[in-house]
Amino acid sequence: MPELPEVENRLLYLRRTALGLVVNRVEVSEARILSCCQETDFKRGLRGRRLVAAHRRGKYLIISLDNGRSLVLHFTMGGDLKYYRDPADKPPYTRLEFVLDNGFRLAFTCPRNICRVMLVDSPSKISGLRDMGPEPLGGDFTLPRLRQILLTSRSRTIKSLLLDQNSVAGIGNIYADEILFEARLRPDRAASGLTQPEMKPLYNAIRKVLGKAILTGGDEHFPRNFLISRDLRRLGCPRCEGPIEKTRINGRTTRFCPHCQA
Ligand SMILES: [Zn+2]
Repeated sequence: MPELPEVENRLLYLRRTALGLVVNRVEVSEARILSCCQETDFKRGLRGRRLVAAHRRGKYLIISLDNGRSLVLHFTMGGDLKYYRDPADKPPYTRLEFVLDNGFRLAFTCPRNICRVMLVDSPSKISGLRDMGPEPLGGDFTLPRLRQILLTSRSRTIKSLLLDQNSVAGIGNIYADEILFEARLRPDRAASGLTQPEMKPLYNAIRKVLGKAILTGGDEHFPRNFLISRDLRRLGCPRCEGPIEKTRINGRTTRFCPHCQA
């Protein structure tokens, strides 16, 4: 599922391919993923517009158009982009195709059909973006900021705090587990109960794990020493080689090592 590292890689892909081009027209095969507007308004709003800039915020990809409006993509479960010339190369699960002025196409794919695409005057109109917490790799995410987020979190577990986009942006189920493993913290600990000496390793782990995952490309290409990679190969904990335990937190499968995480 696309989390921060995967969306960052979709952003880099977009920059290498369709960014800077003009959208001649849009073909919509699944209008349900348009959560902003009617299909006709969406098509009209994009026709003739140049994709001038793009950035990522949390798990959202935001593309600025030459008229000041924004195209916002949320990949939810398994959404992706593909750039190609021959219509025969159209990938499975294509929900939208942007037909570009150089003859190429950019497809937005979504296997489970629950991704979301919006065309808005300003990204701040989207509540998920307006209320979003700091970017964990950004300059304003400091150790004091994390400390403040932890101390005001009341009785939630540290895992559910990491998953909460309004606390910290972009972290999902897989990387929350890796971060807590790296920081040697049990995922079911109360966030507000962390001691001062435990906060710095957590802060460092957030930046280290996300940075590393961006470099390996995200999407199933997890670093081999990640908890998830080891578990998928039926190997034990990357540190002690003991069994990796699975539990559920907030209804999400949660992996941890009971020996290495306290
Ligand atoms: Zn272990």
